[in-house]
Amino acid sequence: MSLGITWAVAWIRQSAQVVSEHRVELITLDREIGDGDHGENMERGFSAVLTKLDDLPSEATPGDALKLVATTLISTVGGAAGPLYGTAYLKAAAAIGSAPELDGAAIVALLTAARDGIVLRGKAEVGDKTMVDAWTPAVDAAAAAQAAGASESEILAAAADAAEAGAVSTEPLVAHKGRASYLGERAIGHRDPGAQSTAYILRAAADTAAEA
Ligand code: ADP
Ligand code: MG
Repeated sequence: MSLGITWAVAWIRQSAQVVSEHRVELITLDREIGDGDHGENMERGFSAVLTKLDDLPSEATPGDALKLVATTLISTVGGAAGPLYGTAYLKAAAAIGSAPELDGAAIVALLTAARDGIVLRGKAEVGDKTMVDAWTPAVDAAAAAQAAGASESEILAAAADAAEAGAVSTEPLVAHKGRASYLGERAIGHRDPGAQSTAYILRAAADTAAEA
């Protein structure tokens, strides 16, 4: 079953919910290797998104919803994560265009464009201990699932599983981008907050797709 605007809006609402539920955890992770604002930044951004969601016209497409998230996060989140997530949602919206329904190939295109946007903006590679360490395995797992004939919700579940493993994989790493890179070896043993928020947002995508 393809995923339309109802899913896109449910995903965004669920993202706001999980970011809010895990606000303290994301703050704690960022306090260990950054400046302690990631949970606050993300909650501020997604609550601003929630207040604007009701203004989406009834004929809005998933791309319109993602564009709304992009512009809102760019203007409200600040820090590194605001422009990075903002670019991700903007590129994801462009990749799916005005399609009213997303099939598996469109879901893979959405995730790939989001990751490519983050890389374009932040220039991080896998292993640099950033959100890219969650996004890239998620994209690879989604593409593999789609090639194997998985449904849309199975593709997103594969992406979420890989993002969670990717977030855990940042723990032993030294950071090469962002504030954590100032810490050198002291960053070892701590999970990257942006990789963890990515895992929550992709789990929200999978959970809402499974319910759709
Ligand atoms: P700030 O670092 O400005 O305080 P946040 O705390 O909101 O912003 O976000 C930090 C997260 O941003 C990091 O955990 C990391 O995942 C991500 N990040 C930082 N720099 C980069 C980059 N160059 N490329 C990809 N992700 C990055
Ligand atoms: Mg921070």
